[in-house]
Amino acid sequence: MGRVIPLSRPSVGSLEREAVERVLVSGRLALGPYAAEFEKLVARFVGCRHSVAVSSGTAGLHLVVRALRIGAGDEVVTTPFSFVASSNCLLFERARPVFVDVEPDTMNIDPEMVEAAIGRRTRAILAVDVFGHPADWARLGAIASRHGLSLVEDSCEALGSAFGDRMCGSFGDAAVYAFYPNKQVTTGEGGMVVTNSQRIASLCRSMANQGRRPERGTSSRPSVRIGPSPEARLGRNEERGAGAWLEHVRLGYNYRMSELSAAVGVAQMRRVRRLLGLRKRVARWYEERLRELPGVLVPQARPGTEPAWFAYVVRLEDGSSRPAASRRHRLLEGLRARGIECSDYFRPIHLQPFYAREFGYRRGDFPVAESTASRTVALPFYAEMSEAAVDFVCRQLRRLL
Ligand SMILES: *Cc1c(COP(=O)(O)O)cnc(C)c1O
Repeated sequence: MGRVIPLSRPSVGSLEREAVERVLVSGRLALGPYAAEFEKLVARFVGCRHSVAVSSGTAGLHLVVRALRIGAGDEVVTTPFSFVASSNCLLFERARPVFVDVEPDTMNIDPEMVEAAIGRRTRAILAVDVFGHPADWARLGAIASRHGLSLVEDSCEALGSAFGDRMCGSFGDAAVYAFYPNKQVTTGEGGMVVTNSQRIASLCRSMANQGRRPERGTSSRPSVRIGPSPEARLGRNEERGAGAWLEHVRLGYNYRMSELSAAVGVAQMRRVRRLLGLRKRVARWYEERLRELPGVLVPQARPGTEPAWFAYVVRLEDGSSRPAASRRHRLLEGLRARGIECSDYFRPIHLQPFYAREFGYRRGDFPVAESTASRTVALPFYAEMSEAAVDFVCRQLRRLL
C-alpha cells in the first residue's frame, strides 16, 4: 500500500523538456513557429486542410459556434452525456442546447433521436466522441445535410479515433480537439480547431487573436525544426509593423496557445502513434481481464470504428436488486481505499445543478443517459500504465464485486 494508481497521467519525457527549453532560450514565448508547426502536424494527422491552435478545447468550441454564426434563439441538437463544455459553448452565445438521449451501447448521441428533435429553429448538430468512441458520423452527416444543418464535432476526447477510414474530426463543418493532461495528446492546457473551410479557419484565427486580421495562409506556413529557427529569432510578427497589431476588425478574445504549450504539443505529435499504441495496449490488458467478469460491461468498439481510447470506463450491469448507483458508490469507495483512483463520469449535463436550475430539467428526462451515468466506473488509464498495475486494479475490482 501507500502507492496510489492515478486515474490518468500524461506521458511526457525528454522530447517535451527539450522543446520547452528551446522556446525559453529563443525568447519567443508567444505567436511563434511552434504553434504553427503544431497546427500543421495535427492537420496532417487528421486529414484536414486547416487548423487553429487555441488555449483550450472549450475556447475552440466557443470559436466554432461563433464562426458558424449560431446565436440567440438558435437551437443545437446535442448530447447530455458529455463534459459540460460541449453544451456551455452554446450558452456562451445564447443558443439553446436541445438534448436528446444516447445509444445504450456506445453512450453516444442517438441519430434517430436527433432527427426527431429537429425543428424550425435548429441550426446545427453538435455530437461528441465520448471517451474516444466515435459517434455515428455517417448517419449524423446524412441527417445534417438532409436538413441543411451545420455539423460540429466535439472530438476533444478522440484525437486519433477513426470512423471507417477517416479520423474523427474530419466529418463536420469543424471539429475541436483538447489537450488537457488526461487527453491522448497534451499541451498542459490547449485545444485545436480543425476544418476544411478557409472561412471558418480564418474567423477562428482572428477571433482567437483579439479580432486582429488573420495572417493569410497561416496553416501552410513553412515547417520549422525543433529549435530556434531564424524566423523565430527575427520576431517576424513585430516586423509586420504595429498597424496590423493595433487593428481589431471584429470582436475577439485571447484564446491563443502559448509557444511553451505548442512546443509540448509538437513533441507529443512526433510520437502520437506510439502514444496511441500504448493506450490501446492498456485497453487490451483490461479487456482480457474484465470481459468475462459477471456484472461488468467492458467498452466495445462500434463495428467499423477504431477508438483512440481516452479513458477506460466500464459499466455495472443493470438488473440487480440493489440500485446500480449505490452499488457503484460502494465500489468506487472500495477502490479508493485500496489506492486506486477512479471516477464516475459523466454526470449528465441536464442534471448538473446549473442546468437543472436554469432550464428545469429533471431526473427521467433522458433515461438512457441517466441509467448509463449511474453505472459508469472510470478506471486508471494512461499510456505508461504497466500490466502489473492493470492486474492489480482488476483483482481488486473482482474482489469488491
Ligand atoms: C476535455 C473536453 C473538452 C474541452 O476541455 P478543455 O478543458 O477546455 O480543454 C470539451 N468537451 C469534451 C467532451 C471534453 O472531454
